[in-house]
Amino acid sequence: MGPTNYSQRRDAAYGKVLNGGTLTGEGKPGDNEAKMKMHINNLDAATKAIQENKIFGGADEILLPYLDSLYKDTIDARDHTIFTDVTKYWEDDFMEDMDALNVMRADVITRVTAYVPKIAVFVDEIIKKGFAYESEGSVYFDIAAFEKAGNPYARLRPESRNDKALQEEGEGSLSKSLGGKRGAGDFALWKKSKAGEPSWPSPWGEGRPGWHIECSVMASDILGSSMDIHSGGIDLAFPHHDNELAQSEAYFCEHGHGPHLWVNYFLHMGHLSIAGSKMSKSLKNFQTIKDALKKDYTPRGMRIVFLMGRWNDGVEISPDMRTQADVWETSVNVSISNFHWIIWLTNFRISS
Ligand SMILES: [Zn+2]
Repeated sequence: MGPTNYSQRRDAAYGKVLNGGTLTGEGKPGDNEAKMKMHINNLDAATKAIQENKIFGGADEILLPYLDSLYKDTIDARDHTIFTDVTKYWEDDFMEDMDALNVMRADVITRVTAYVPKIAVFVDEIIKKGFAYESEGSVYFDIAAFEKAGNPYARLRPESRNDKALQEEGEGSLSKSLGGKRGAGDFALWKKSKAGEPSWPSPWGEGRPGWHIECSVMASDILGSSMDIHSGGIDLAFPHHDNELAQSEAYFCEHGHGPHLWVNYFLHMGHLSIAGSKMSKSLKNFQTIKDALKKDYTPRGMRIVFLMGRWNDGVEISPDMRTQADVWETSVNVSISNFHWIIWLTNFRISS
């Protein structure tokens, strides 16, 4: 495919989707179709740029993966500043947004990079309990051994426990090539680092924590062996939270004492969506908080929009929702000013 026959080939392959159809030819278009349209937009822009010999807006989407494939291996992965500088930048940016919205700071903020030695000790303890095993420099959780000892797995989403797509998404594309698992659902507690990936020393060689283990170790370090409430987005229920539960309960359980309960209640929230699609970076249908506060919202107005959704539901940003939120804010403002008025009158009568 080249810039000359691009549009022909595009329409032959994806005309259906571009005209409002679905990838499979069945049902209604959803997130997958929206993503496909986003990729096609990038390709359209790239083709136009090549034809006109210009730099184009979506260059990062196409150039970044390419540069990564060429130079990723050349980074000294033991120098973590290249990774922590980026996270620090976004952390500061996030805090600025929260301050602008008048959201109070958390009592404790933990960072995975400061916890890696403790994570390695935690993983080692799970191996010693017999619920994890090392394989080719990585460590995996042993679901079969865990259940055989009388512990429950996938309590939050039992129907998803064999969902291959969710499992793979949870493990990340990087680990697809890592073999050596005993059970198909076994998930990584520790991953052997490839060239260019951040790495730390461990009893199993240079590696990095698996995704789920970070939360288990940091939360247990601050809150102890159990907690009342754990929250998160609904997409984290499986495998992330189910795996967090399993590995934490594996760590804290005492043989012969029955299963350990790490979390008493989970609160899972829905997503923020716009025009029926989940707001996400990859779909590019997002608006930043900074942008929204500059153009469309007051900090309080935005907080009210989020409060209009139920705790276990998503929030759909629509003109309707805005009106509802504005009406609510006005009526609260009126009641508050009436309330002041009544207090003033009462004081007046008392003092006079
Ligand atoms: Zn987590």
